[in-house]
Amino acid sequence: MPELRRDPIHGRWVIISTERGRRPSDFATEERRPVGGFCPLCEGNENKTPPEIIAFRNNGTSPNTPGWTLRVVPNKFPALRIEGELGREGDGIYDKMNGIGAHEVVIETPSHHETISTLPQEAVKNILWAYRERMIDLRGDQRLRYVLVFKNHGVAAGASLEHSHSQIIALPIVPRRVSEEIEGAKNYFGYKDRCVFCDIIRQELQQRNRLIMENQSFISIAPFASRFPFETWILPKAHNPSFEHTAPSLYEQAAQILSETLHRLSQVLSDPPYNYVIHTSSFSETDNDHYHWHLEIMPKLTKVAGFEWGTGFYINPTPPEEAAHYLREAK
Ligand SMILES: [Zn+2]
Ligand SMILES: [Zn+2]
Ligand SMILES: [Zn+2]
Repeated sequence: MPELRRDPIHGRWVIISTERGRRPSDFATEERRPVGGFCPLCEGNENKTPPEIIAFRNNGTSPNTPGWTLRVVPNKFPALRIEGELGREGDGIYDKMNGIGAHEVVIETPSHHETISTLPQEAVKNILWAYRERMIDLRGDQRLRYVLVFKNHGVAAGASLEHSHSQIIALPIVPRRVSEEIEGAKNYFGYKDRCVFCDIIRQELQQRNRLIMENQSFISIAPFASRFPFETWILPKAHNPSFEHTAPSLYEQAAQILSETLHRLSQVLSDPPYNYVIHTSSFSETDNDHYHWHLEIMPKLTKVAGFEWGTGFYINPTPPEEAAHYLREAK
């Protein structure tokens, strides 16, 4: 059973993965591990993944056989386990609990060489819809408090399989980066009586120098204090605290802006490795005035080095105004 441990100084939780205990020699070869070879996510290899949780399939095909356009399966090597009790306990000054949670894989396409930026918009919409269905379902688990959807694209961004996929992790705690963001938004609201994200959207639509694109319901921007070159955020224009409670009619436009934004990043930076995450409200605060869901895309163009580790300060060599300019111009 993996273990969750809390740092008593920062209040930061980490997952100690006891089962995957790695020896020093396992790390040395990590970066050189070849990508490719047999792919358990390809159509036809359904029996190489755990049984599907949900799938979008052609009529008449049965679960765990070919004929699907998207599948969600439990991660074969989960960071957290779904069975068991939380078992919160102290160990002297330290706090820990069992690594309970869900870890799922969204297989975004049956074909090995498609990526989100090459898939048709309808397929991207289905990916977002699958996130929504899984998030709503996981919210029902009383032991859990937060669900994060994320994607690693490319080896440098942490993808261990080449086949296009994203992951969903549901946690028994609200992770620190998220609670910092929620607290910050709450403080801003307490002071101004307005949502900080709504204010950002209003100003970015006015100034337009960090605006990458917009459609009727969403904008994508290079944030004012971008940590990384070409960091990009996508936000719904109307106030909306949780991704999974977005009106069904908006997923079409969410897919359109995600698809086009990734396409532009791919054009300008020639298919860069990247991560994206969806930040949504915690389970206890689904509906509120201060938090506003968004999707953050972080191309992996620079490495986080000593100064960043030591200070939490980032040095970004590309001003967001310039990044937005390149992305706006891209066709
Ligand atoms: Zn594949
Ligand atoms: Zn808002
Ligand atoms: Zn965020």
